[in-house]
Amino acid sequence: MVPTYEFRCEDCRREFTLVMSMAERDKGKISCPACKKKNVKQKISTFQTKTSKKS
Ligand SMILES: [Zn+2]
Repeated sequence: MVPTYEFRCEDCRREFTLVMSMAERDKGKISCPACKKKNVKQKISTFQTKTSKKS
C-alpha cells in the first residue's frame, strides 16, 4: 500500500496529493507543484484503500 498525503497550498489555494515516505515528509521539503512555494498545509494523511472514487 502506498501512503498518500493531501496538501493544500495556502498561497494559490491549490490542493494536491503527494505520495511519499514518512521520512521524506518529515524532512519538510514539500512545495506546491503549482507555485513552488512551501506554504502548504497537510490535510488528512490517508492510505489509498478506496478505489471506487474514479472509474
Ligand atoms: Zn501554490
